[in-house]
Amino acid sequence: MIKDPTHPRTVLRYCQKCGKEVQFDSQNFKSVCDHCGFQFYINSAAAVAAVIESDNGQVLFAVRGREPFIGMLDLPGGFIDVGETAENALMREINEELGANVTSSSYLGSFPNEYSYGGLTYYTLDLAYRCKVESLDNLKAQDDISGWEFHNLKEMDLELIGSTSMKNIVRFLQNE
Ligand SMILES: [Zn+2]
Repeated sequence: MIKDPTHPRTVLRYCQKCGKEVQFDSQNFKSVCDHCGFQFYINSAAAVAAVIESDNGQVLFAVRGREPFIGMLDLPGGFIDVGETAENALMREINEELGANVTSSSYLGSFPNEYSYGGLTYYTLDLAYRCKVESLDNLKAQDDISGWEFHNLKEMDLELIGSTSMKNIVRFLQNE
């Protein structure tokens, strides 16, 4: 097996509880400590992605202002906080990133993703929603985005998009 330097099995080598070296159970995706019995599960973090359309049917893409994929396109959204609903995360993220108010949303589907950050691979499940916002007139690029662009989905070049799950959301919409 090729050793992936950012895989949790490579990076998370010590028990979170007692500090001794752990075994990684690849089948159940957890580390197991033979010393104290502690088990640590690697789970997908839940995140939301918003599909916001303009009046002429173009989709809003955020320009990423931070790594990973700085400068590349992304759908607006982000991680769901612990204890938060997906719908609330959608409203909060759109407000934080674009200064816009979500007035309605409908669920499209879920899209798994993985990416390396700070030397560790993270796993997410991105929940895509079609969203309506109060107005697209006074958007502000804030938080972790540096700008926004509208694109016609049918002609969208997927290479402009950073993450695999966002590419898959656009593919899903292109085939709708
Ligand atoms: Zn332990």
